[in-house]
Amino acid sequence: MSSSNSSSQNVIYQYSTINALSDGYYEGEIDIATLKKYGNFGLGTFNGLDGEMVIIDNHFYKVSSDGIVKNQADNEKTPFAVVTDFKTDKSFSFTQKLDLIKLEKYIETNLDSKNIFYAVKIQGKFEYLKTRSIPKQSKPYPRLIDASKKQNVFEFNNINGVLVGFYFPNYMQDINVAGFHLHFLSDDKSKGGHLLNCITKNINVEIDAIHNFQMLLPKKPSFFKLNLSTPKSEIDKIERDNK
Ligand SMILES: [Zn+2]
Repeated sequence: MSSSNSSSQNVIYQYSTINALSDGYYEGEIDIATLKKYGNFGLGTFNGLDGEMVIIDNHFYKVSSDGIVKNQADNEKTPFAVVTDFKTDKSFSFTQKLDLIKLEKYIETNLDSKNIFYAVKIQGKFEYLKTRSIPKQSKPYPRLIDASKKQNVFEFNNINGVLVGFYFPNYMQDINVAGFHLHFLSDDKSKGGHLLNCITKNINVEIDAIHNFQMLLPKKPSFFKLNLSTPKSEIDKIERDNK
């Protein structure tokens, strides 16, 4: 979109906050057409907490809780999304078999600092992948910790694809997921979801170091009334692999 931007102007745009999602704010007013103005890469979810959003090369995919992946129309809305125009600052390849914790540690050793933002693209062959997608919720909306108990988990072996996501510093923990948050899409665009674990095989990592962050806050009264004080331990329980 804004391909004329130099990398120093690169910005992460985020709609709503992770704590709002945690508090059950599942109906945003921003649509994909609007998100496309802010970025061609990222992740999120859809209104009603209907599946996992994976954004790559300006395509917005939904991984539904039945595992089906579909390209989404511009009028689909989101209650939480994080996007940027991805520009590679640094890339490296490796063939070690790393699980998610080791993969995150390995990428961290290649970050200039843990105090700025990063968009991360991890592409290649995975020996194993474990993802999830949460089914669409109905009103009255439960908290995310309760909705996530109904998540469907998918496991894949020897699969080619891309992990898209972000690294946020720990000091951002009430706003976004601190550390890495990654969503998967297979090369054939038939499988995906929120990443719970993996074992890498033959991987290329691209890192986009970003110094600018802009929030787009909801205008709805339902957002104004939220408590927004979910502890990090609860977010970890929702976003990490606990089995
Ligand atoms: Zn996610």
